This record gives sequence, structure tokens and C-alpha cells, in this order.
Amino acid sequence: MTTLLLPSATDVASASRFAVINPADGSVITEIADAGVDDADRAVALAQVAAADWAARSSRERSGILLRAFDRMIERQDELAALISTENGKARADALAEVAYAAEYFRWYAEEAVRVRGEQFDNPAGTSKVLVSHEPVGICVLVTPWNFPAAMATRKIGPALAVGCTAILKPAAETPLTALAIADILTEAGLPEGVLTVLPTTSAGTVVDRLLAHDDVRLISFTGSTEVGRHLLERAAQRVLRTAMELGGNAPFLVLEDADLDAAVEGAMLAKMRNGGQACTAANRLFVHERLHDRFAEALASRMGALSMGDAADPAIEVGPLVNAKSRVKVQELVDDAIARGARVLVGGAVPKGPGYFYPPTVLVDVPADARILHEEVFGPVAPIVRFSDEDAAIATANDTIHGLVAYLYTEDLRRGLAVSARLQAGMVALNRGLVSDPAAPFGGVKQSGLGREGSTEGLHEYLETKYVATNW
Ligand code: NAP
Repeated sequence: MTTLLLPSATDVASASRFAVINPADGSVITEIADAGVDDADRAVALAQVAAADWAARSSRERSGILLRAFDRMIERQDELAALISTENGKARADALAEVAYAAEYFRWYAEEAVRVRGEQFDNPAGTSKVLVSHEPVGICVLVTPWNFPAAMATRKIGPALAVGCTAILKPAAETPLTALAIADILTEAGLPEGVLTVLPTTSAGTVVDRLLAHDDVRLISFTGSTEVGRHLLERAAQRVLRTAMELGGNAPFLVLEDADLDAAVEGAMLAKMRNGGQACTAANRLFVHERLHDRFAEALASRMGALSMGDAADPAIEVGPLVNAKSRVKVQELVDDAIARGARVLVGGAVPKGPGYFYPPTVLVDVPADARILHEEVFGPVAPIVRFSDEDAAIATANDTIHGLVAYLYTEDLRRGLAVSARLQAGMVALNRGLVSDPAAPFGGVKQSGLGREGSTEGLHEYLETKYVATNW
């Protein structure tokens, strides 16, 4: 078995500890220090002390540390993937894909770090020279979810450190070990003390509130549910903090009548089953044209029903457990509600016996418009399929949500695909693809799916303030 990268020490002084659980069998992986408000104060003090030196380092030096961290993550991908699978439950292939994706944010931002440019120009009246430069925003608080414990952390740490900010990361209580392992890798890569502190805690609200109350904290970057995002926006408003919010999704997956059926099924497998359906980008509502509906539903049910489910410690397993009991109860509730309203189960649909928080890949058809599953994020391996005949009505239904993170679209006509993409209310559209995530592309949503973008050059500018100097010479 691969060794787990368990932390030898943390930056938390608190004597209280909490258990990190393996969702495959409910066993305790390890116990770690549980940060409290004193640890929050200490982390801010460390970040303040480190700030000036870190911001003054050359971008080449900061870039070098991120590049070394990228290399170390790739060298240790097996150990990191095993750690992710153990604390999050995701299948081995998904965990390895996450490590590669997460590491890429360090490489991408190492490359971006040395290309932050300002500008100089004469104002239109010719009376002043305008000098524009970019400075690190200051101490950043980063809060991440459990579903991508490595990638959601590096997507924030990478740009923050690249531009010279110091940061405090509060990982999800379910998956703190991956965040601690990444912090250890950054230390090995040469990151000075205090530039990044990781604060695992079971008191998220109290600890994050305390961090945000400090005058020197200037930014909160959050990935998680829309509900917690709204709360943090209110907190941030008290001190007029910069905010970056990557929130929930309710992604539509549209298969138009001229789509390539096999490609659409393949894309649906990826869009639905990545991380066992526990992804903000997961296809939550599948709208399939009546011409393809029955064949699509049958093929998807056959593919999903054939997936092997079990403890992700076994590399042959394709679907691991859900992250905890609460998640499984919610998935079952949404499926039961749909069935009670008339949906038919093609495959799955019932909690299996035995230990762990497993839920089988499930396909539902004839899902009525008022079923909760079409309006709430299911966050599990359940694909509700809705038949449509009128394309305009399907697009309107796809847009009828408070969320707007990603939309998937299958059609063989690229012109039609681009026209429909323009009508979809989403920050990202996957056109004839089941995956959008790419460190080089701007990731983020519209409406209540978030504010700001991560990845790409845009992600770097979330951590920069613009300064303008008016002068003459
Ligand atoms: P969550 O409950 O909102 O938790 C996310 C993080 O916020 C965790 O670290 C959590 O700590 C912390 N938190 C909870 N309450 C808080 C509070 N009052 N103040 C400060 N922090 C608090 O979300 P989740 O269940 O972990 O993740 C699933 C959600 O994340 C889904 O809605 C999904 O769509 C979204 N997501 C979005 C993206 C994106 O890029 N848009 C990516 C991934 C996930 P604890 O762990 O201690 O509760």
C-alpha cells in the first residue's frame, strides 16, 4: 500500500484535536490539532511578519518556489493521490487526475508570476503621464471545500503566492490532510515561514470570522456552497474586503437532436461521474432531445451501472463512497422525492448494505419539472434525465436557476453550438466536451455561482491591487 503523507507537525498550537475519517469504512485515519481563535491570531501575526520580505522577493524567486512545488507534487503524486482517496473517498484515477490538475496551478502561476506588467501612457489632454502598476493585495484568507482538497487549495495558493501575498488557508474539516501535505511540499520547495499557514478546524465559522476581523487581512477567497458564500460576503462587507467566490452549481447538460450520441454519452459519464458526482461542475440536469432520449438514457444507464464501486484503496475501483453520512442522506432524499413524483429508476436508486457512505450510480428518467433534484445540487452519482422537443423551452429551463457555473452542450453543428452557448447563462460552457477545468482558462460562474475567476491571468489579478500614479516629467 502507498504511504500516506501524514503531517508531522502543524502550525496549530491548540491542544484540542479532531479525527479525520475514511469515508469508505468510517475508520479514523489520524487525529490532528483543531485550530481555535488564538491560532487564527497567531497565523495573522505570522503572515504580517512574513509579508514585507515575501512581497519584496523577485518574481523569479517566487516563481522558482512554485515550480519546485509543482515538481515535488508530480514526484509524489502516488502518495498524494492515496491521501486524497483516503480522506475524501474518491477513486484512484480521480485522485491522480486531481493531483495533476492541482500541481498544474503551481506551474501555471509560476509562469504567470514573472509576467505581471503595468503600463504607462499620456492622458488624452497631454497634461499628465499615467503610470499603472500592480501590488499584492495583502494577507489573504483562503477557504476551501472537501471535494477537491488539493486543486481548490492550489488554485488559490498559486496566484496568491505568485504575486507576493501571504495567506492563511482553512481547509474543509473532512479533508485537512491534503492541504497540510501541500503546505509541507511548499516548505520543502523553499517557502519561508509564515507565508502560508494552514488552519484545520472544526470551528470554521468562529475561526474564519476571527481572521476576517483583523485589519491587515485584505481578501477572502472562498470555494464552497452558495449559502456559506452569502454569509462570508456579509462578513467581508463589514471591512470592505476584496472577495473571490466560487460557489455552487446546478449544471444543465443539453443534448440537441443532431448530437453525436456516443460522444454525448461519453461526455455525460465525465461530467456526471468525475469525483463520483461530487463536483460543482457536475452535470445536475440532463436535457435530451426526444429523438435521442431513449438510446441516450439506456446507454448511460448501462455505462453507469457497470462502474465498480468500493473502497478507493483498490485502484480498480471506479466509484468511491460519498464524503459523509449527511451527503448520502441528501442524495437519497432527492432520489426518493423524484420517484415519489413519478420518476423511473433505470439503474441504482437505493443505498447498499454495509459500512461506508456508498451510493450507487443512478439514472432517473421521466423526472417531473417540480422534482427537487432538478432544482438543488445533488452532489452524488445521480443523473436525472428530462426529455425535450422544443429547443427554446429547453434552454429556458436550463437557465431557470439561481446558479450559473457551467453548462454542457452537445450538437454536431458548431455554428448552432456557439449560438446556443451565447444564450446559456453560465460562466463556462463545455461544447461537445464533458470537462471544462483547465488552469489556463478562467474558471467561475455568473448569478449566484460566484464572483471573480480562478485560473488564467484573471485569477492572478484577484490578488493584485492596481495603483495609478499621475506625474509629469
Ligand atoms: P461548504 O459547506 O460551503 O464548505 C466549504 C468550506 O467553508 C469548508 O472549508 C467549510 O468548513 C467552510 N465553512 C463552513 N461554514 C463556514 C462559515 N460559517 N464561515 C467560514 N467558513 C465556513 O461547502 P462544501 O459542502 O464543503 O462543498 C460543496 C459546495 O462547494 C458545493 O455547493 C459545490 O458546488 C461548491 N464548490 C464550488 C466550486 C467552484 O469552483 N465554484 C468548487 C468546488 C465546490 P467545514 O468543512 O469545517 O464545514
